[in-house]
Amino acid sequence: MKSDKIKCHVCGHFAKESKFGFRGYDVRGFSCQNCGEKTIHSEDAGRIFAINKLQNEKKLHAKIAKVGNSFVFRIPKEIITALNLKDKGILEVRVASPKLITFSIA
Ligand SMILES: [Zn+2]
Repeated sequence: MKSDKIKCHVCGHFAKESKFGFRGYDVRGFSCQNCGEKTIHSEDAGRIFAINKLQNEKKLHAKIAKVGNSFVFRIPKEIITALNLKDKGILEVRVASPKLITFSIA
């Protein structure tokens, strides 16, 4: 998907590069200018698949470690990859109860 236009797999007309919502995700893809068929960019489709897999399959363990005078929270690589997080990013942290901490992407 390197060009900005592909052919629609339904009607064969040109589909133009676009961004749209899919099941609550903002995704890149192509929209057919004739029939409206939408095709999700393969990278974004892979990201959605990875997130769904994390939601449905298993609990991951995150470790806390002390580095100097600070504590670091080590997030499993599967989560970093699925959410496309970058190093030095910011997460919002909320202590919901003594046993529940939630993190949100800022
Ligand atoms: Zn079409």
